[in-house]
Amino acid sequence: MKSELAGALKRISSQGRYRCLQEIEAVRGPIIQIDGRELVNFSSNDYLGLATHPKLIEAAQAATAEWGAGSGASRLISGNLEIHEALERDIANWKRTESSLLFNSGYHANIGAIPALAGEGDVILSDALNHASLIDGCRLSRAETRVFAHNDMDALESLLKAAQPQGRRFIVTEAVFSMDGDRAPLNDMLALADRYDAWVYLDEAHAVGVLGKTGAGLVEEFGIAAKFCNRLIQMGTLGKALGSFGAYVAGPSELREFLVNTARSFIFTTALPAGVAAAARRAIEILRADPEPQHRLWENIRYFYQLARASFPIGEPQSAIIPIVIGGESEAVRASLRLREAGYFIQAIRPPTVPAGTSRLRLTLSAGHQKNDIEGVARTLKRYLQ
Ligand SMILES: *Cc1c(COP(=O)(O)O)cnc(C)c1O
Repeated sequence: MKSELAGALKRISSQGRYRCLQEIEAVRGPIIQIDGRELVNFSSNDYLGLATHPKLIEAAQAATAEWGAGSGASRLISGNLEIHEALERDIANWKRTESSLLFNSGYHANIGAIPALAGEGDVILSDALNHASLIDGCRLSRAETRVFAHNDMDALESLLKAAQPQGRRFIVTEAVFSMDGDRAPLNDMLALADRYDAWVYLDEAHAVGVLGKTGAGLVEEFGIAAKFCNRLIQMGTLGKALGSFGAYVAGPSELREFLVNTARSFIFTTALPAGVAAAARRAIEILRADPEPQHRLWENIRYFYQLARASFPIGEPQSAIIPIVIGGESEAVRASLRLREAGYFIQAIRPPTVPAGTSRLRLTLSAGHQKNDIEGVARTLKRYLQ
């Protein structure tokens, strides 16, 4: 086994795609410690700085003391705690849906809900830049999956027209794309879904907390008409801007009931610990009561863009994710190391996470970043990229 796997690793290495785990020794908001050095983290999805917020930590501690460190069983056996149901009601209220259902992570949600809803005889139309968990969900479903060019509504329409499934048509997309930071044209997509009687599965992982008046995501940002909501399945995660862990699928109450009965990644797994659910509840409460963290995040996004656009080519940000495309795998890794030497942690993203030839630095901003951190990283990038 050792020599066979070592050979496989060598092949990965020779393509410049070798990955290794980076040990973080301490976390103080956006400051992390690696190899004894403090770095400003520009690679986190904790966009609002809630993961280290005292109120979330306090809520997690109190719920852990009350309910225990683990839930002890799956939801359908004896793990369905009051706090899970309360969090699901909070999410549904916030998202303005009839109901929601928790999953143990975004990955679980996508590989559970998509195969529960779509199957043989159905057709799924999937955006070319969809996240691996969405791709895996489509594969597991055994529905026929067709990929449309990223955000290309003409391409989507021709596939919708051409598809003559025995069953149903599904459109699967991210709200904010995780490696490019751009948004799906959701209004146009829903109009197409309406015309061709398709259901839309929307992954709000990077839109939650970032877009919409109360941070409820792209649906809130665009003020999606109620008539479309009966064909909309809204998935989102609790582990990114919400600073906790887990995920949800929100929609009509029949959707929740159906997933409880059919989604294998919901049925056959231990329920989330109470502390995690309590932290997520507190995060939603903060978001709904106080727009300040989201405002600070957008101030930081705009500030970075203003400093950066004069010195190297980047598009106007549509989210907290800013891709700086370098091209080759090793060049992107080298750029990341140079930034680290200067005190900034920005991971290089390489294939297969992104298409070949588009290896990049994926810079993310947070409400917790200070002005001088943003100035410093923009200055360092400018020096390196010019
Ligand atoms: C991060 C992410 C997921 C997975 O969510 P986890 O809770 O981290 O498992 C799913 N979809 C998208 C678009 C993501 O970026």
